[in-house]
Amino acid sequence: MGKTIFVGARKGGVGKTMTAVSLGFGLARAGKRVLCVDADSQHSLTVSLGAEKPDKLATTLATVMMEIINERAIDPKTGILRHNEGVDFMPAHSSLTGIELALAPLIGRETVIRQYVEMVKPLYDYIIIDTAPTLDLLTINALAAADSVIIPVAPKFLDALGLELLLKSVAQIRRQINPSLKIDGILLTMVDRRSRLTREVIGTIEGVYGGNIKVFAEHIPNSVRAAETSANGISIYAHDPNGKVAAAYTALVEEVLANG
Ligand code: ADP
Ligand code: MG
Repeated sequence: MGKTIFVGARKGGVGKTMTAVSLGFGLARAGKRVLCVDADSQHSLTVSLGAEKPDKLATTLATVMMEIINERAIDPKTGILRHNEGVDFMPAHSSLTGIELALAPLIGRETVIRQYVEMVKPLYDYIIIDTAPTLDLLTINALAAADSVIIPVAPKFLDALGLELLLKSVAQIRRQINPSLKIDGILLTMVDRRSRLTREVIGTIEGVYGGNIKVFAEHIPNSVRAAETSANGISIYAHDPNGKVAAAYTALVEEVLANG
């Protein structure tokens, strides 16, 4: 049965989507059946996986969530697209913001994505949910559906308050909705080792959080090669197979596989 990993942070532009996509591709390369779910109305994951016009897609996460809200039976494969590098994905489009309104009055409004995940879990080894930096009902739904959390933090944009708030939310979700939710770790992204500030920030994060939460030993380097992949809809492993970003994500994938 699939493991569901939430990738999120309370900050934009820190490599959440890059991490979700690269984990997905990496796990698929390791022979795992992977579904990436785009739970961000900005739909960067959908674009990174090669869907050129997300707003033209007929079926997206919003569609299947509405079917679940309306208690209509659906085929688990509904709306799932496939990237030619072996990753399946459930796309988003900008109308996903509207789902908040549909969710608000519901009983069980926090667990609609969980119901979706339960439905597709038998088909996958890993389900990776990419999320928006806001802590809205959609993100809460993603946390409620997850087995574990990976938090990308870009030391150059460190948002200590945002990190604190996300950790508090995880604790709250664990107490109220999803007692077995675990934190896999904090992943340092866009790391420029030449920057003294970056090295200091990494030291601070390891010092403050390292005792309680794993800070992945592998850091994702800052590289224009990484930035190029999202525009081209291909993986970092295909785009720059011998590069340092591919190597770093490969090491992360190995850790995730070792975690089970
Ligand atoms: P988020 O999902 O947190 O908003 P993204 O993954 O979309 O962040 O990354 C933000 C931007 O930075 C994108 O243009 C992406 O291509 C680029 N990017 C992601 N990872 C790296 C990296 N390791 N080095 C350089 N640029 C990166
Ligand atoms: Mg993103």
